[in-house]
This record gives sequence, C-alpha cells and structure tokens, in this order.
Amino acid sequence: MLDKRQFYINGQWVNPAVAHDHEVINPSNEEACAVISLGSQADTDAAVAAAKAAFPSWAATPPAERAALVRKMLEQFEARQQEFAEAVSMEMGAPIDFALKAQVTVLPWHTKNFLRAFDQMEWIRPLSERAADTAIALEPIGVVGLITPWNWPVNQIVLKAVPAMLAGCTCVLKPSEESPLNAMLFVEFCHDAGIPPGVINLVNGDGAGVGAQLSSHPDVEMISFTGSTRAGRAISAAAAPTLKRVALELGGKGANILFADADDKAATRAVRHMMDNTGQSCNAPSRLLVERSVYDETVEKLAAVAATIEVGPADQPGRHIGPVVNKRQWTQIQGYIQKGIDEGARLVCGGPGLPEGLDKGYFVKPTIFADVKPGMTIEQEEIFGPVLAVIPFDTEEEAIRIANDTAYGLTNYVQTTDPVKANRLARALKSGMVEMNGKPRGAGAFFGGVKQSGRAREGGIWGIEEFLESKAISDYNFSVDAATE
Ligand code: NAD
Repeated sequence: MLDKRQFYINGQWVNPAVAHDHEVINPSNEEACAVISLGSQADTDAAVAAAKAAFPSWAATPPAERAALVRKMLEQFEARQQEFAEAVSMEMGAPIDFALKAQVTVLPWHTKNFLRAFDQMEWIRPLSERAADTAIALEPIGVVGLITPWNWPVNQIVLKAVPAMLAGCTCVLKPSEESPLNAMLFVEFCHDAGIPPGVINLVNGDGAGVGAQLSSHPDVEMISFTGSTRAGRAISAAAAPTLKRVALELGGKGANILFADADDKAATRAVRHMMDNTGQSCNAPSRLLVERSVYDETVEKLAAVAATIEVGPADQPGRHIGPVVNKRQWTQIQGYIQKGIDEGARLVCGGPGLPEGLDKGYFVKPTIFADVKPGMTIEQEEIFGPVLAVIPFDTEEEAIRIANDTAYGLTNYVQTTDPVKANRLARALKSGMVEMNGKPRGAGAFFGGVKQSGRAREGGIWGIEEFLESKAISDYNFSVDAATE
C-alpha cells in the first residue's frame, strides 16, 4: 500500500499538522491501495499562507516566463504518462487503456490550448479609439482554492491549476479524497518543472474539512469548484461572508435528441457515449429522446449495442468499462435502477446487481430503460452511473420541452441531418453547450453550463479570464510603458 500521507506546501512535502489517516480504495477489488492524510485547519492555513506569500512575485513574473514553466510541466507529464495513468486507473477505476487514451491525455490537450490562448492575451489595452487614454488592465485575482472531483480527476485539475498559474494566481489544490494520487503526481510535475514554492500547494482532505476551510478562508480570493450541485451550494454559502468569487462546474442531466433523420451511427454513439467512464461524466447524455417513428427499432439497436459492452477490472487492457468509484456510488446507482423498475420504466438491458462473473468490486451492468416518462426519478436526477433513460417524442416542440425541463443545463446533444433543424435546436436548448451529431467542440472552446449545472467557463481564453480581474484606469500613459519596454 502506498504511503502518501504528506502535503505539498511552499515547495516541500510536509507532514500533516495532526495525523488523520484515510485509505484510498481501489474500486476494482475493494482493497486499500494507498493511505493519505485528511488535512486540518492548520494545514489549510499553512498552504494559504504559502500561496499568499508567493503571490506578489508570481503575479509580477513576465507572462512568457510563466508560460515557459507550464511548458516544462508538460515535459514532466510526457516522461511519466504511464505512471500517471496507472494512478488514475487504480484509484477511480478507469480501465488502463481508457485512462491512457482519455483520462490523462486531457492534460497536454488543455494545456496546449491554454498556452495558445495565453499568447493572445492583452494584459493592458486602450478602452477604445474614442477613449484612448482609458486603460483596461487584466490582473490575477490572488490566492485561489481549487476543489476537484474524482470522475475526470486530471481534467478538472488541469482546467483549474494551469489557467490559474498562467494568469499569475497562486493556488491551494484540494483534490477529491477518492482520487488524490494523480493530483500528487501533478504537483510533482510542477515541482520538477521549477514552478516556484508557494505557487501551487496541495492539501488532501474531505469536503467538510479542507473543502469548507478553503471556501470560508479570508485570504482566499476565489474558489474554483467542480463537483456535485449539493457541494456547490455549500461552498457558495461558506464563501458568502468573505464575498469571494466562486466558479462552479456542477452536475448534469443531458438530453440527446435523436430525430428520425439522424445518421445511422447515432444510436451506437448514444450508448457508447453514455457508458464511457462507466457513466460517471457530468456531461453524460443520460436522457435519450427518440422520435416516435423510429422509436422501436432504435430501442432494439440500443439494447444490442449495450449488450456488447464488457465490464471488468481497471488494470486489464481492453475497451471494457470499469467499476464505479466506491460503494456509496454503487449503492446509489442500484437504488436508481430499482426506482426505474418500480416507477414503471421498461428494462431492456442490464438491471440490478453485479454483472455475471464478477463478485468483487463496484461493478454495474450497463443498463437501459425504455418508455421512460418525463418526471420519473431516473429522468430527473443525475444517476452518475451506466444507466440510460430512453423517452419517445412526437414533435420537435415536445422534445425541446422535455430536454429543457430539468434543473440542470450543461450539455445537450442533437442527432439530425437537417441543418436548419440543427441550428434551431442549438438555440432553443437551455444549456452551456450543445453537441451536434457526435462532433466534438473545437480546440479552445470552453466547457460550462447554466442553471444548476453552475456557470463557470473552463478551457481556452474564457478559462484564463476566470482567474483575472479587470481594472479600468483613466488618463493612462501608454507612451511611458512603450518607452520602458
Ligand atoms: P462532490 O461534490 O461530493 O465532491 C467534489 C469535491 O468537493 C471533492 O473534492 C469533495 O471533497 C469536495 N466537497 C464535498 N463537499 C464539500 C463542501 N461542503 N465544501 C467544500 N468542498 C466539498 O462530488 P463528486 O462525487 O466528487 O463528483 C461527482 C459530481 O461532480 C457529479 O455531480 C458530477 O456531475 C459533478 N461534475 C461536474 C463537472 C462539470 O464540469 N460540470 C465535471 C465533473 C464532475
């Protein structure tokens, strides 16, 4: 079992102020794979103090120097990619090939997109031609607390720590206590790249401890959070007395609207996308709305595709899906499957219990419910497991109404070969993102939602701007700057 009890504060690995061991459980075999510490107020204070002390000089570092250090961090990742993927796979259950291909490769992907956007930043510029002596300056907000989940753990850390450091902020990272190992490797990459002490600090802990302490800390100017809507509310409330900025990326209940004129791969995509990462994605297309004229044949196709999805341990190579992250999540998903049955949805694939041949580990059968009615529990609540709810619709208006009738608004999906209908849907759907016909958003586009999915914008230029304040200055002497450059 790995001993990972230390925290990274002010450029050093240090012991916790008070011992508080916590075992990290490998969800494929239910055995402890590492022991970490849960931090206390003294650890949080030490990390925030280190970040506060490092802020003035880091904020004053020329942007090109910060970018160069982030590029060096990328080199560290490239050298240790396999080890990084193995950590993710072991702690949260992503099968190793998926961890290598998807879970960790987001680090270079997002970082390169950030670096490209960063080169275009105008740190100070005239307001307009008519007000050329008014300057608009961009400045880092200060010490930021980064609180991240376990489901796409590297993705969430990179989407926060990289733009925060590029912007000139200093950070205290609190990764999920379920998946701390990849986060500890990430700060090692930063350390080995030469990122100065105090710029990035890591304190492991739980939500009620370090999470709440960071959220209410008077020296933390901003919390960037990804996780459940429940925790997003608690963080907003804890942050209110100090009026810090709070950026929230929360849950989702995406609708995938499949019209009769969809391309012939749309049904396969609908299942595969839902089951990826064992359904543990905030942007999972978990409600499939199917036009009535193709409903029966589509349901048959969905069941056939789901039946081909294998389930197995995370350390085995292959395209199978792994376990869900922990016992609590497994039990909750089983409860939702039972609820689907009890409320009268038609089970066409999967169902309760462990998949055949697996008697240990938090494995769930890829499950599809047809004839789901709007308002049923499995249609409204985020399940966060491999469970797809299929709902028939008759008209475009009805599909839009069902899709928008949710507290969430992260990603919606549309499958149609009619470009006019596609554009109409893109505008009618209430979500931060709309994905058409399985085509991913382009490099440098943001990720983010509306309503109870939170309103943060992560990735690209928007993701850097989240960590900046803008300042308006009158009678600014641009000529002095030009002369001293
Ligand atoms: P979670 O909210 O339980 O935990 C997320 C993080 O917040 C963890 O680090 C946890 O320790 C911390 N935390 C929990 N309670 C807290 C509190 N009161 N104060 C401060 N910190 C607290 O979520 P999870 O189970 O780790 O992740 C799953 C959730 O994350 C799902 O709802 C999913 O949809 C959401 N998610 C959203 C996005 C997005 O970008 N919108 C991405 C990934 C996951």
